[in-house]
Amino acid sequence: MTYTIQNTLIPTEQDYKTVDVQITDGRITAIAPDLEPVGTIIDGHDKLLLPGFVNAHTHSSEMWQRGLIPPVPLELWLAELYDFAPLDPEQIYLSAVGTAVETLLSGGTCVVDHLVLIPGKETETIEAAVQAYRAVGIRAYVAPLIQDEAMSAGLPTNSSNVTLEPFFRSTQATLDLLQEAVTRFHCPEAGINLVAAPTGVHLSTDALLTGCIELSERYDLCRHTHLLETKAQKLLSHEKYGCSAVEHLKRIGYLGSQTSLAHCVWLGNADIEILAETQSTVVHNPLSNLRLGSGIAPILKYLQAGVNVTFGCDGAASNDSQDLLEAIKIGSILHNVTDFDYRNWIAPRQAIQMASLGGATGLNAADQFGSLTVGKKADLVLYDLTSLSLLPRTDPIGLLVLGRPTQAVDSVWVNGKQIVSDGEITAVNVAQLRKELFDRSQWHSSRHSKTMYSTEARYREVMGLEPQ
Ligand SMILES: [Zn+2]
Repeated sequence: MTYTIQNTLIPTEQDYKTVDVQITDGRITAIAPDLEPVGTIIDGHDKLLLPGFVNAHTHSSEMWQRGLIPPVPLELWLAELYDFAPLDPEQIYLSAVGTAVETLLSGGTCVVDHLVLIPGKETETIEAAVQAYRAVGIRAYVAPLIQDEAMSAGLPTNSSNVTLEPFFRSTQATLDLLQEAVTRFHCPEAGINLVAAPTGVHLSTDALLTGCIELSERYDLCRHTHLLETKAQKLLSHEKYGCSAVEHLKRIGYLGSQTSLAHCVWLGNADIEILAETQSTVVHNPLSNLRLGSGIAPILKYLQAGVNVTFGCDGAASNDSQDLLEAIKIGSILHNVTDFDYRNWIAPRQAIQMASLGGATGLNAADQFGSLTVGKKADLVLYDLTSLSLLPRTDPIGLLVLGRPTQAVDSVWVNGKQIVSDGEITAVNVAQLRKELFDRSQWHSSRHSKTMYSTEARYREVMGLEPQ
């Protein structure tokens, strides 16, 4: 397909200019004023064209529990989340479609889905998510969430005798499962990439982590994991390794330019140096960190140290939405309270760059997408500057980041294919999706999670909180 987007506004170094943009065979082929119109003509008047953002960390299936879990810290929140009955692959499909739709309509063209697997139906889970992303047409990095230690291993023992039950699946079986998924579904040309993504060092043995490194090297996969999201995880890694989790990951060779790390809230200065030196990427999930009380990630320090930072929504049960523009806004202005020197604060244009090129960099794909550059894949978003939320006319990017844009996305292209037109998703029926999500769920209010109550006493003890 060929498109010519006529008379659209694009950002320049300091300002904006009006140009035509041509897309041919999936790529941006020309950016200049008054191009010879070819293919489908798109009216770009009163619109702003930006590279698509990356929703660089989420868990799509959490859509089924959004709005439901009370305000508690991660370790108790997880206990509650895992108390829900397992989903079925059809639900996985629907929540992946929902995640893709919300990401696209808030400026994203790419999603990293750290996908929670249904026990016993692991491959079906991955297949359902892959089908959903292919149906919508969003670029997807599907990262099956794997671990080889039971949930109870995720809390420090505080030198007390805690018996940890073994995980239900062996390390080798888990790695085999990932390898099978890569063989079946990894297809970068079609916009579907598999990722090696253990849940985190707090629930993984070194055998699993090094197995993931081997697979990522063999198949040229990105690596992803949660890292030091909570204070409890920091205490645990010192207990487990006698050093920080970052030092340990460096020692075993997990870090690198193909590695993105979700959260990174509890890192010290030496850890930050390691991330810079290894060219690893931090995925900042500000809403989840606030929602779970995890802390404020030292994002300004990362930026000053030269660490690549991008944004994620995190799963919809700890956010509780998939609005990428909201994550970018909060993820930028939150840090103003951490540094009196306002010259270090994140400006709207910088935030946009972190969300687009920063996201592509975290996926080792900065040469392929993430900016308005001739030759790059056409992953583009056209914003309607006549949307009430973007009026009156001021600075379009300033208002897009600092305002509260609603219905601002007019058109989206991924891999040069238009998948949003006039603010509507083209390939899937969103009215039908809404009906399915409604029909397959029910109103819930006062849930009581048994697992949360049984975890709470131990959590309060290790965190030095008053006993129940
Ligand atoms: Zn997460």
